[in-house]
Amino acid sequence: MSSEGELRDLYQELILDHGRRPRNFSPMPDASAKAEGFNPLCGDRVTVFVKTEGERIGAVSFQGSGCAISTASASLMTERLKGMTRTEAQGLLDRFHAMVISEPGKPLPADLGKLEVLGGVREFPMRVKCATLAWHALKSALEQGGGTVSTE
Ligand code: ZN
Repeated sequence: MSSEGELRDLYQELILDHGRRPRNFSPMPDASAKAEGFNPLCGDRVTVFVKTEGERIGAVSFQGSGCAISTASASLMTERLKGMTRTEAQGLLDRFHAMVISEPGKPLPADLGKLEVLGGVREFPMRVKCATLAWHALKSALEQGGGTVSTE
């Protein structure tokens, strides 16, 4: 029943909602790792905090300032990651990245759930770095335990 246009409007609404009222938007004083990301192209800044419990991600939050796409992407990412193992998180990160750099019109990778709302950025190569910024920071936090990453 819903046309492609209606679906796009719905996606747009979800991005704006997460952009305006980001979830898990707070510092985490007892984080096991944190990493900062900076996207000079757009001016987006994000700090991702992760608390690991063994192999699992017990909690994840973020702070920063940036455009609606970068904020919504970070917000949706934190919602999805809680309770995942490191391996699952890496898999999700890979699929998310594959989605945003895929050719417009091609089917999206499976199991992205709500994150599919960000699939639209593949039509706007300039915005890909906005969408992936928090994910780069997450990767850095999980792999090296922190630091600063730049999209450049
Ligand atoms: Zn941006």
